[in-house]
Amino acid sequence: MSEIVGLDIGATTSCVARFDGRAARMIDLPDGSSYLPSVITFVDGGYVIGHDAIEAGRKHSTFMFRNWKRQLGAKWHDMEDTGFQTVESRDEAGNPTGFLAYQGPDRCYLPEELTSLIAHELLRAAQDKLGAMPKGAVLCVPADFIQSQRDAAERAVLMAVDRLREEDGKDYPFTLELMHEPTAAALADGYDAKRATRIAVVDLGGSTLDVSFIQSGGGLTVVKTTNGIRDCGGIDWDKMLADYIVSMWRTEHPDLADPATRDAAMSLILTEAEDVKKRLSSKQETSFRIDDFDKEPNGEDVHLNYLITRKAFEEMTAPLLRRIIGACQIALEDAVRIDPRFSVKDLHAVLLVGGMTRMPSIQEAVKQFFQRQPSKKENPETLVAFGAAIRGAMMEGRRPDLAIQDISSHALALEVVGDTAAILLPKGSPFGASAAFDVTNEIDGQAQLSLRVLSGEGSRPSTCEVLASTEHKIAFFEARKARVPLIAKIDASGRPTVILDGKVIYGEDEAA
Ligand code: AMP
Repeated sequence: MSEIVGLDIGATTSCVARFDGRAARMIDLPDGSSYLPSVITFVDGGYVIGHDAIEAGRKHSTFMFRNWKRQLGAKWHDMEDTGFQTVESRDEAGNPTGFLAYQGPDRCYLPEELTSLIAHELLRAAQDKLGAMPKGAVLCVPADFIQSQRDAAERAVLMAVDRLREEDGKDYPFTLELMHEPTAAALADGYDAKRATRIAVVDLGGSTLDVSFIQSGGGLTVVKTTNGIRDCGGIDWDKMLADYIVSMWRTEHPDLADPATRDAAMSLILTEAEDVKKRLSSKQETSFRIDDFDKEPNGEDVHLNYLITRKAFEEMTAPLLRRIIGACQIALEDAVRIDPRFSVKDLHAVLLVGGMTRMPSIQEAVKQFFQRQPSKKENPETLVAFGAAIRGAMMEGRRPDLAIQDISSHALALEVVGDTAAILLPKGSPFGASAAFDVTNEIDGQAQLSLRVLSGEGSRPSTCEVLASTEHKIAFFEARKARVPLIAKIDASGRPTVILDGKVIYGEDEAA
């Protein structure tokens, strides 16, 4: 039977879950496993995905892509070092579009196109399991994602659905809703608990960190505060270790090619770095080894082989740990701002979510900060998909006893003049909130208002994401006498809309 399924498309692994009436369960993938590595390799004029992509990537690593999640919607000029060959994307006429893309063998691929290949695989598996195309999906995204990342994630799933429709020759109806990953985890963890408890969710995955304080249980999941770091995730631990290995290699082999200049070599080093990082979660030391890594001028193979201790790894990545604790501190300060009597002692539990929370030093730092032992789930990766599946069941009316109140993670603002912005809806506004304003003219006889809708943390436009720019003509007024009505709102799933003088200038609003 058709259902709304829960999608967790992670930087490292992805999965799809359903709510079967009693509990959320993983949907098995064609190879029988529940998890699909978020890896795509382009080979032989096509592509392979997941474990096959890792295997193919070992042989043809040039076009193996992984860890693109936080590049969703990224502008070309904001590019970070992804470890892969990236280019500025081009439209069909060959003009640059300003967005970051990955260079494939035949053309460049936007991050959302890569995500859509994963979404296609997951939805196809769900279709096979349910015997019908899912009638919708709840897609989890990091709470701290900015609007362009959310939009790109959404487009990715819709692109996959379009492809499924085309392949099956059927025009499936499909509903898509986004959900914040830590909220999904808290819902999955506490939806059947009788009594409400206050928990901190620390969600550290492959690419991002979210720290949310959530009240959960008694059928209600209420998010109190949320904070995050969009460029702090497992890949950053991998990169630090990879940089360390490269510097050692350079010192010892000044005569050989610098691996940092060879994409294929860096891809191998990053893959091994991730494996070493994982092994160090259960071992005190392990070898970082890549056989036949290079050749001496005389043709002799050279292996790359270093012993890495957990202590050394923890020392080199200590700055990342400090960033995590910094985000926990900000979350705590936010909670105190809402309720001045709040302290960490008022939390009933700390829930660790995301694969990176398996790292002992992260568990220890979180424990020290919150002064309590975090609850360790056997599979911290499953909670997000389970929460999304439960949310799907709620949307279908199958769980009328449950409700969620989430909040915005960024302020919605309007740039009025120069480098100042008026906050329309502050960060932390509940989904469903709205506010009305009058926009005015700054100078006598100003013929039009030039406005920009912004999303961001502070009141300085230069630090914000520009959602929309608009010019609005006004009649002659003395300075500050014009009154143009503006409504700002966030819908039930967190999408902002701004309406100026009855016209939507950002977002969608059927009623406008
Ligand atoms: P997620 O996005 O929740 O799937 O988390 C993926 C991240 O967790 C990746 O960076 C993985 O390398 C990392 N990870 C998974 N298992 C472990 C482990 N045992 N120790 C350390 N990191 C891990």
